[in-house]
Amino acid sequence: MVIALLKSAEELGARVVNHTEVTALVKKNGRVVGVHARDRIDGNEREYRAPLVVNATGPFADRIRRMDDPDCEPLILPSRGIHLVLPKRFLPGHDGVLIPKTRDGRVLFALPYLGYALVGTTDEEGALEEFPVPKDEEIDFLIDHFNRYFTPPIHRSDILSAFVGIRPLIRQPGRRSTAELVREYLTEVSPGGMLTITGGKWTSYRAMAERAVDEACELLGRRPIPCRTRDFPVVGSRRPRDEIFTLLRGGGLDEESAEHLYAHYGDQSPQILALTETENAKGRIHPDHPVIEAELLYTIRHEYVRKPLDFLVHRCSLGLLDPAAARDALPIVVETMGRVLGWDAQTTTEMEKEAYAKLPLP
Ligand SMILES: Cc1cc2nc3c(=O)[nH]c(=O)nc-3n(C[C@H](O)[C@H](O)[C@H](O)COP(=O)(O)OP(=O)(O)OC[C@H]3O[C@@H](n4cnc5c(N)ncnc54)[C@H](O)[C@@H]3O)c2cc1C
Repeated sequence: MVIALLKSAEELGARVVNHTEVTALVKKNGRVVGVHARDRIDGNEREYRAPLVVNATGPFADRIRRMDDPDCEPLILPSRGIHLVLPKRFLPGHDGVLIPKTRDGRVLFALPYLGYALVGTTDEEGALEEFPVPKDEEIDFLIDHFNRYFTPPIHRSDILSAFVGIRPLIRQPGRRSTAELVREYLTEVSPGGMLTITGGKWTSYRAMAERAVDEACELLGRRPIPCRTRDFPVVGSRRPRDEIFTLLRGGGLDEESAEHLYAHYGDQSPQILALTETENAKGRIHPDHPVIEAELLYTIRHEYVRKPLDFLVHRCSLGLLDPAAARDALPIVVETMGRVLGWDAQTTTEMEKEAYAKLPLP
């Protein structure tokens, strides 16, 4: 979804950069007029100037706010959420189950997800980490709670993958636990004129974007333009599923690969199909999974993939669903990326090592 939004923004004139970290703000007469940023892969520093800087860094929003106002009150309470991936047999059928309130007041759900069962989630205040890893007690908590409501019970050895994310919850005085906090969002303007939008959820992102753009127009002294987000089909959603499927099947893709491509790339899938021919890249990167080499080539060229994890975790999902298989597929992924991106031997080795270490458990 993030990639679909970024591609849609790019189509409308945005410039997108990946692995680029804002390290400081550029200020002129106390006003924020841009950012200093460092490319984390090649180490290059750059300055980006803008009439208005918008800070939309989710749980990291306070770090950027402090670059303008070191004493600002924190807005965010980072909340850890953990997910387990299990074989489909633990949740057969097409229905998901939601337990709205476990004994300690949390939400527990089990959902069918891309041919697997996805179980979540805890809601625990936690440190702000860039690469959080699930703790043993978090995994045990989920197993224990799942087994109170579902059969067959799960054991640790059934878990294919466990991963954790940090939610940007808004601090609210008087609320004790993260589960009690409402999923509100807010905007704030820093003393130097930087606009922060944070909090919220995926389900509120369009409303958040509308509010941020309206406030940006106001700060820039421009009349707000009518918002198009409600009826704007993002890249990937513009052609009907049946039409795409007919093309994919006609191009010789098996049912499983067609399903996989459509689920991840929507109406962009025919471009990947074309690469299977022109680049002779129809082969799977792992025999047990429908992910094909053409996908990797496509995402390097069109979806900002610069590291193996970008592809394995954030584009094709293999790293989230079956990290053991993703580790097996690493050599082919790294070899292809090295060839396309012109990596030397040292970079290739470092990329492989990093991805191996950072792929989710177990
Ligand atoms: C486990 C879990 C389950 C969830 N489930 C749901 C759900 O079911 N439904 C729902 O609606 N929402 C759900 N959410 C919430 C939703 O994912 C978040 O609200 C949403 O991701 C926040 O979006 P964001 O863009 O504000 O922040 P993020 O998605 O966190 O993105 C922030 C970005 O800023 C970047 N960044 C940080 N610092 C810098 C810097 N210095 N320079 C450059 N970039 C920087 C980060 O790398 C990151 O890419 C869930 C969240 C979690 C963690």
